[in-house]
Amino acid sequence: MLKVKDLVVNYGAIQAVKRVSFNVQQGEIVTLIGANGAGKSTLLHTISGLMRPSSGSITYLDQPIQKLAAPKIVRAGISQVPEGRHVFPGLSVQENLQMGAFLRQDHAALAQAFEEVYTYFPILKKRRHQDAATLSGGEQQMLAMGRALMAKPKLMLLDEPSMGLAPLFISEIFDIIQAIHQAGTTVLLIEQNAKQALKVADRGYVLASGQVKLSGTGAELLATPAVQQAYLGG
Ligand code: ATP
Repeated sequence: MLKVKDLVVNYGAIQAVKRVSFNVQQGEIVTLIGANGAGKSTLLHTISGLMRPSSGSITYLDQPIQKLAAPKIVRAGISQVPEGRHVFPGLSVQENLQMGAFLRQDHAALAQAFEEVYTYFPILKKRRHQDAATLSGGEQQMLAMGRALMAKPKLMLLDEPSMGLAPLFISEIFDIIQAIHQAGTTVLLIEQNAKQALKVADRGYVLASGQVKLSGTGAELLATPAVQQAYLGG
């Protein structure tokens, strides 16, 4: 479904992504794990069209997308849930969700998208008229995920959804990621919480210093001593 090949992404003189290749098959949950600064967010931003690669290619459903503008990439079926949520404070929960559906004209489809999101996240329905700024961190993460779902993505990119959340919220968020996946959405998940991410993932890639160092199934990586030492606290 998604093929990233020999991707290089620079910030001026800094090479953040160094010839990275990986792929995501339709129906999978794939995770990219790695420490701070490994290049994970840069990769996601490049896939979603917010950054341009210096070289390499990104192919989605057999079409090259590395030159497409971000809205076209959303239209093609890729939605990103950004690191740090970035909900719109000052707008209500419902208005935030509406922003995720900016490409939708069809009222029936819009109403159905709202219902779907409220089924995954009943708390958002309860708080739909509340200002997004008043939500807890976990609820804001749910709102960011809900906003991405409003575009009905085929592929959802999640950037560190568990960051800064209490353990109870983390397991809830991971449960919902699995439910979204079971309903037919392919997931590319970036996480520093390697243990949880590898548990839910079909396959994973370990990134360090802008390069893929290891890859395997979630279970294989969980059992790899180098992964255990570096990312799972020994
Ligand atoms: P984090 O979890 O901290 O977001 P990450 O694995 O997502 O880490 P990136 O944010 O992609 O890593 O950063 C990769 C590299 O690019 C790092 O060396 C970082 O310092 C550098 N970098 C990131 N953003 C910028 C920027 N705006 N300007 C210059 N260098 C940057």
